[in-house]
Amino acid sequence: MQLQFIGCGDALGSGGRSNTCFHVKGHSVNFLIDCGASALPALRRFGVARDAVDLILITHFHGDHFGGLPFLLLDAQFTRRTRPLVIAGPMGIETRLAQVMEALFEHSSKTRQRFELSVVAVSLKKRRNFGSVKVTPVSVVHGESGGPFLAYRIEAEGRVIAYSADTEWTETLIPAARGADLFIAEAYYYDKIVKNHLSLKTLEARLPEISAKRLILTHMSDDMLGRLHSLPYVTANDGMIVEL
Ligand SMILES: [Zn+2]
Ligand SMILES: [Zn+2]
Repeated sequence: MQLQFIGCGDALGSGGRSNTCFHVKGHSVNFLIDCGASALPALRRFGVARDAVDLILITHFHGDHFGGLPFLLLDAQFTRRTRPLVIAGPMGIETRLAQVMEALFEHSSKTRQRFELSVVAVSLKKRRNFGSVKVTPVSVVHGESGGPFLAYRIEAEGRVIAYSADTEWTETLIPAARGADLFIAEAYYYDKIVKNHLSLKTLEARLPEISAKRLILTHMSDDMLGRLHSLPYVTANDGMIVEL
């Protein structure tokens, strides 16, 4: 199984990076984690077969994690997709998806697709199976609007991938990422403590408790991007592939 960072940027285009979208592909699984506004051109740039993706997991409703869905669905329609697609995310996703589709491509939320589209709201802490992908959503802390906010612990093909999504430090990240084969964590600032986002120094202090086998930092601001060469951690870049 492999995970490719299709986009690992923030909402502000820091470092010229694409918005958040990760592609996981294995023998029996093919899914995206988040689908930021720039996801479709980025998927095309990296040659990802969009019609082979059968699940998209959304962490929250900010445009840099969710705003790519109308483009992906339009692409699916125009490329005559037939394979069923599941889009899963926080409570309210059915309404939020229809709203963003109508805002960007009027009437598109009512288009009859040739493929079966299921939009599913997931429940907190309840593990749910999507085919052979087992997903446990946990609540994280990322402000007042654009939520509910979820991190995910994802089990597939005998591996565990945890993704913090956007969040300030919260204790729920420990069970979400404990012992994971890969923990993808937001590190927005180096040591500045702000609301709603995680700084590397805060995360670093808790890493022993999380004890993930591998850590990759993502969603970095210019503050972090300016320090990349001096950090003792692996940092994501657009297009990077991780074997799991
Ligand atoms: Zn974000
Ligand atoms: Zn966000």
